Amino acid sequence: MTSPWDTPRARRSALEIAGRLRTLSETERDMIRLVGAPGFRRWLDQIHNIGGCADPIYLAGRTITRDAVTGAVMRVYTTANEPGGVLALRCGNRRDTRCAPCSRIHAGDTFHLVRAGLLGGKEVPSTVTGHPRLFVTLTAPGFGAVHRVTDSRDRKCRPRRDGGECPHGRPIGCNQVHSEADPRVGQPICGRCYDYAAHVLWHAKTGALWNRTTILIRRHLAAAMGITQRTLNSHLRVSFAKVAEYQKRGAIHLHAVVRVDGPSGPEDAPPSEVTAEILETVVRSAVEAAEARTPYAPGLGEHIIRWGAEIDVHAIHSVHSEIDGVPMTDEAVAAYIAKYVSKSVGEVGGIDRRIASAGEIDRLRISPHVRALMGTCWRLGGVVELAPLRLRLWAHALGYRGHVLTKSRRYSTTYEQLRAVRAEYRKTKAAGGSVPADVPTEIESAWRYVRSGHTPAEAEIAAGVSQDLSRSRDIGRSELSNEEGRRVYG
Ligand SMILES: [Zn+2]
Ligand SMILES: [Zn+2]
Ligand SMILES: [Zn+2]
Repeated sequence: MTSPWDTPRARRSALEIAGRLRTLSETERDMIRLVGAPGFRRWLDQIHNIGGCADPIYLAGRTITRDAVTGAVMRVYTTANEPGGVLALRCGNRRDTRCAPCSRIHAGDTFHLVRAGLLGGKEVPSTVTGHPRLFVTLTAPGFGAVHRVTDSRDRKCRPRRDGGECPHGRPIGCNQVHSEADPRVGQPICGRCYDYAAHVLWHAKTGALWNRTTILIRRHLAAAMGITQRTLNSHLRVSFAKVAEYQKRGAIHLHAVVRVDGPSGPEDAPPSEVTAEILETVVRSAVEAAEARTPYAPGLGEHIIRWGAEIDVHAIHSVHSEIDGVPMTDEAVAAYIAKYVSKSVGEVGGIDRRIASAGEIDRLRISPHVRALMGTCWRLGGVVELAPLRLRLWAHALGYRGHVLTKSRRYSTTYEQLRAVRAEYRKTKAAGGSVPADVPTEIESAWRYVRSGHTPAEAEIAAGVSQDLSRSRDIGRSELSNEEGRRVYG
């Protein structure tokens, strides 16, 4: 009996398919391998469980839970039964250019710790809502004219009817219309007029400038209350949470929450004479007075670092304040801040990893503006007097070496606490059910690292999983109450 496949026609089409297989892309071939592999469904479950992480870590090992008294085995989990004998874990990177799903979790944590500092919760008493609280935005000064977004058709970028040229023979004006997506936005009108040295030196001292500002806020507050700075701590505490965000021009600006508590912290009422209005006046005067200096270097002198003129100070909860058209409630502020922690220099066309050589900067696929900023970091990083600024180490971040989010110890809960809570939850969930809470247990674990990352097809599937999850989150968002805000960002 001849097989139905063993006909000239079937053979022709088999050859045709074989021919087509030869022209498949690497990803398509990998996809065929992946979907056909034993345990594909279980692998897909794992990828779901880690939210479609873009760069998972695969571990092999086991965890045995025993009754601490009798030694009886209560539960065994081993990766021996998992596809390939391994279990995928999240990479946990907070940069959305590295791993969008994990960065969303990090943004969720930020939302929670900023929110706890504003509203209470997570060991912060809810009475903090009655304390004076401000939302402050601080910007960099100008380092040279850049193209900017023109929000309506009749507005032009840098309008100049009479023309005029810079010393390099470039027109001073632009007169064009730029949308948010226009790659020219944030790029200098003339790269040679732009003060790149001032820009990266400003970044190198932004952290110092912020520290100086917080000292002056305390000092000016003491002066406003007619007390000495030394006795300030026996009257009140000032706490801060801030995030740094890169603007289109590659300069960071800072968003900060400033809160005044009583002398023993969040659970304590601040003195009644310290109102949000007084705090606002004090913050403005501190921001205006604050300065930092770069070390003296030949040819550059000493740069005095100050905040730009665009300062924004709002009392949180005052009826008229808005950010980007959103009323400034505690929730809005926490969400606004959380949005930025997953952003990085990658957003303005930079990169998220350290640079090893000047040659590498030349080879990167980045805008001329970002290249010039990195190149300036590299060049000034070689100046002996500027060594303390560590500009080469931070060239990828355009000279800024601060954390994206910083907060005072007393402000609210910590990332560590939030992570510990989540790890605990994951452990019980991954193990398929929970052990009775009243039984003392001993856990014996042995794990080893196997590999990390995705093959091309795995990466495509994980990206799809992450998209599905964020879409269902978007749908769920409108139905969530404030208390469930965690899920909105998680
Ligand atoms: Zn990840
Ligand atoms: Zn322009
Ligand atoms: Zn010029």
